[in-house]
Amino acid sequence: MERRSVLKALSAAAAVGAVTNLGRGRTVSAESAEGILGAMGGGGPLAQAKAAARRGMPPLKITDVKIIATAPSGSNWTIVKVETSEPGLYGLGAATHQEIPQAAQAYIEKRLKPFVIGKNADEIEDIWQSAYVQEYFRSGPEGNNALSGIDGALWDILGKRLGVPVYQLLGGKVRAAVPLYGHAAALTQSALNDQVQAYIEKGYQVVRVQLATPGWSGYGVGGAATSAATQALRPDGVKSSPVFDANRYINTTIGMFEALRVKFGYDIGLIHDVHERPALNQSIELCRAVQQYRPFYIEDPVSPEDVGWFQIFRQETSAPLAMGELFVNRNEWLSLVANRWIDFIRIHQSAVGGLNMCRKVAHCCEFFDVRTAWHGPNNVDPVGHCYNLHLDLVTPNFGIQEETFFDEKTREVFPGTPEIRKGYMYANDQPGFGIDIDEKAAAKYPYKTDFEGRGNDRMLDGTIVRP
Ligand code: MG
Repeated sequence: MERRSVLKALSAAAAVGAVTNLGRGRTVSAESAEGILGAMGGGGPLAQAKAAARRGMPPLKITDVKIIATAPSGSNWTIVKVETSEPGLYGLGAATHQEIPQAAQAYIEKRLKPFVIGKNADEIEDIWQSAYVQEYFRSGPEGNNALSGIDGALWDILGKRLGVPVYQLLGGKVRAAVPLYGHAAALTQSALNDQVQAYIEKGYQVVRVQLATPGWSGYGVGGAATSAATQALRPDGVKSSPVFDANRYINTTIGMFEALRVKFGYDIGLIHDVHERPALNQSIELCRAVQQYRPFYIEDPVSPEDVGWFQIFRQETSAPLAMGELFVNRNEWLSLVANRWIDFIRIHQSAVGGLNMCRKVAHCCEFFDVRTAWHGPNNVDPVGHCYNLHLDLVTPNFGIQEETFFDEKTREVFPGTPEIRKGYMYANDQPGFGIDIDEKAAAKYPYKTDFEGRGNDRMLDGTIVRP
């Protein structure tokens, strides 16, 4: 029976409520006929979806790009607000370049804003790719953070437009919430033990642990001051500075791991951030010495300039290795992943161009069993934490997420800031990233300091230490 005849027969069946013969022994009930007609015609949900897909969404133009600089928690955050031709429909993106925010802001204002105004807000990939090459000398943290601000806002807009969270656009949740690790850092072992105990009691499964070397400077412990006795060991004429000594740091850190395992056993995951400071052979020695304490991972054992050492690290130690918060370019991480030389990728999402790039990084890592651990301290703004959150929710090869503390002022400026409970971060399931900005509240918290000092630590003899 030809199509026109079938439709006629189905219509008759539906109308008279009878079983109808379609020929060649085929029959159809009235109820089935109604369903088939709906699906074939304009009434069924599938047919409606098909028709909508063919029409596409109506054009949505980018009409303006605004920069909102705010520091409710003390960190200098840069939020991008992309406005569209649909009144009231806008998106937010993370463009925070904490240490030189003005550079990323200038790149947006001078270059990306004029470039994207008038473009179709739905063409996220094309806008990312074409905006990326607006800077011929590309792939620096200033341009990447600027691009991240535009890109994230487009994902936010698309989610709002379709009425779904960004994690849905990325493939949907594979976990209910995102496991976090907390930061424990102290001047003494006993104070560190107390902090780890507090995290365990809250339900955290993984904690980052940093212990000061008494009398010496170090990474990650507030109040770790260089003593007068240490300064007295320095040569005449040396520049005054905090003093770091890799050998003493390594001795302290090995002792810390041993003490923590004696006290807490092996069920709690322990992360430690080397922060790139020791020489390469010293970092390898540290990893070899603490591998018996089964760390969750050892973070940044070398600086990005020295990633060529990872093959040797992999051969020399079974300690899991995490790397990448300073990466800005795919050539810095791709060989580490493809050769399986690291276990965790720790990229700072906005610094490599934002969510559009990092969703691809996550997928690439999946094929090499490298897990994600996106950088997430307070120099990531709350919208950037939403990038982490939504990508974490959809990534099967997720490892762990670094936690930050969202204070009340932050929540005042950013309604919808993710909730953290018992060591998990939750999405609020609102369309887009689910986070907004109160611009009046943001204006109450201008930047107070221009630059967070880095690179001030030196060795005893005055040699600079990479931060
Ligand atoms: Mg780190």
